[in-house]
Amino acid sequence: MSRCKNNAVKKLKRTIEQSVDILVEKFPLHLNQEQINLARNLQMEAAKVWNATCNIHRTVYGRHHYWLKEGAIKSLLKGKYDIHSQSVQAVVETYFECCERTAELHKQGGTAWKYPYRRKRFFTVTWKESAITHMGRTLRLSNGRGAEPLMVKLPERLAGAVIHQAQLVWRRNQYWLHVTVEKPALTKVRGDVTAAIDPGEVHAITITEGNDALVISGRLLRSLNRLRNKELCKYQRAISKTKKGSRKRRRLLVKKYRFLNWIERRIEHILHNISTNAVRWCMERNVKTVYIGNPEGVRKKDCGKKHNQRISQWAFGKLRDMLEYKLKRHGIELIPVDERGTSGTCPVCGEYTKQTGRVYRCGNASCGFTGIHRDVLGASGILDKSVNGGFTNGRKLPLMVDYLRPMVLAPQRVA
Ligand SMILES: [Zn+2]
Repeated sequence: MSRCKNNAVKKLKRTIEQSVDILVEKFPLHLNQEQINLARNLQMEAAKVWNATCNIHRTVYGRHHYWLKEGAIKSLLKGKYDIHSQSVQAVVETYFECCERTAELHKQGGTAWKYPYRRKRFFTVTWKESAITHMGRTLRLSNGRGAEPLMVKLPERLAGAVIHQAQLVWRRNQYWLHVTVEKPALTKVRGDVTAAIDPGEVHAITITEGNDALVISGRLLRSLNRLRNKELCKYQRAISKTKKGSRKRRRLLVKKYRFLNWIERRIEHILHNISTNAVRWCMERNVKTVYIGNPEGVRKKDCGKKHNQRISQWAFGKLRDMLEYKLKRHGIELIPVDERGTSGTCPVCGEYTKQTGRVYRCGNASCGFTGIHRDVLGASGILDKSVNGGFTNGRKLPLMVDYLRPMVLAPQRVA
């Protein structure tokens, strides 16, 4: 379902002028039992809307060979459910967005994608602007006239925020609220320098614009990922030994979820730290365009169980998404490119040598170039390949290399 984000936000973006950025903030909800029941009922009601939409859309086509339009289904479902009328519309909009996206993917040849068909028990509830009222730090989310509203306490950072949309999402073991907020636009970049990023595991990010380079360590990230896997494995083993529905299993599950929530918050914190530092570096150097090596090829290759797990836990996608939206706020564009051969091709003679160490070594006996950090060379290679369309022999290499370790300002573990 995460693929089917509601399109209402996209529509908003077009209407609002350039002075603000529209961003999504997420926070967990601390609800009492009564509120949890209400949230659950709301999600089940939204699921009913989804199932009805799906049914009507498919049945009408089956009988009359005609796909009903979004508006027709909206008017059919109007006033029939116990959630806000615009929340009903939002579900229908999500359904049609899913269809649209699937059609697009089919056009591109991805026929494995299915049109929405599955019946749901729960579905994300969306509140649009007219259903949201601020009451100090409390948010009143209306569920239609006469129905009990959902009252939600906002975290301090969002106390006075302008909220355009709110979504009630179930994540792992609790409800979260995703709110679409206005944030002041940030200063846009002035220059037009081009830079390149080589993402990696040991060094999360290596970035260069030709003269300088910045290497941000990914070791802490890696150690946290390892810890996560190790502990998760322990929990899974213990859980598998218990009986279904037993008290022991329930307790273990609670512990497991608490651990996962804690460690994922830490990991996210570090990813934010890394991306923010990279963005700051770009701003200082007036970078307008950033090419980023796409390690998709590395991921698909089968390199044994251990290595595969390591690569899949790399969290590259998350880091790239963060970089993308943060850079975008400054008017910087992030472009993914194929990174094949970039870290092994010699900058002097152009010969490719498979690298094993951290320091680059050219395998060509008559050249023997060495002495540069492999990831810095990789980033410089991506830059060369993207700007000049291929590798230039004897290209200029970055002279200044800064090293940075993400700060450890992690929250204390809650007991
Ligand atoms: Zn060489």
